[in-house]
Amino acid sequence: MTPDPSIIRLIIQLRQAGITDTSVLSAIEKTPRDYFVPPHFQVHAYEDQAVPIGLGQTISQPYIVAYMTQELKVDKTHSVLEIGTGSGYQAAVLSHLVRRVYTIERHKPLLELAEKRFHELGLRNITAMAGDGMKGWPAAVGEMKFDRIIVTAACEGEPPVALLAQLKVGGMMIIPVGAQGQTQFLKRYKKESEEVFAVQELLPVRFVPLLPDVPRNNSYTEHDLEELTA
Ligand code: SAH
Repeated sequence: MTPDPSIIRLIIQLRQAGITDTSVLSAIEKTPRDYFVPPHFQVHAYEDQAVPIGLGQTISQPYIVAYMTQELKVDKTHSVLEIGTGSGYQAAVLSHLVRRVYTIERHKPLLELAEKRFHELGLRNITAMAGDGMKGWPAAVGEMKFDRIIVTAACEGEPPVALLAQLKVGGMMIIPVGAQGQTQFLKRYKKESEEVFAVQELLPVRFVPLLPDVPRNNSYTEHDLEELTA
């Protein structure tokens, strides 16, 4: 299949911006971003910019997706947990690079759309659920551990303890840290032992907030839901 020329243009831009990992570039090439944005924004899908996806959320700028994926240093044996499925784009990119992606989204309407996209694109190694990702993947204590965790919403202060606990020793988590309206930094936590984490600051970023709990189904208006597919 010949890729869309606009994807090729995006890949060239990402290379120029310093994304050098060819497996990451190829995963981005395989992922049709136009599929993950509302119809109204499809013409902008391959520009290097964030796009609104409804319910006040955004799909990150492709450079940030590529950068986070590259800095997560994944391989084909990894199981990866993502918090903040949103459109599903980041999960889809990761699905080409790892064994299995687990992804959690607190907005059920967004999760349902993302699952539909995974299904239609034949991405069978993604398991998605609606829930509060700050609590980690629901499983008996000690049962689920991940090689990598990627959080795509910003936490204030320290990362959720449940996430640090679900990381394997030797594993890494990337998470934006900082309050809204203030400088946020992408941070990488490497779990060196059950108690010791090495923390690195990677890049100043701007993300929507990581919020607790799950909104009630009846908290969405007709207008909210229309926005998702308009
Ligand atoms: N990775 C997404 C971008 C997501 S924007 C993509 O590729 O499109 C961040 C998402 O995190 C939003 O959809 C928001 O609803 C979600 N989110 C915020 N707090 C959360 C939580 N505690 N658990 C799960 N999802 C959360």
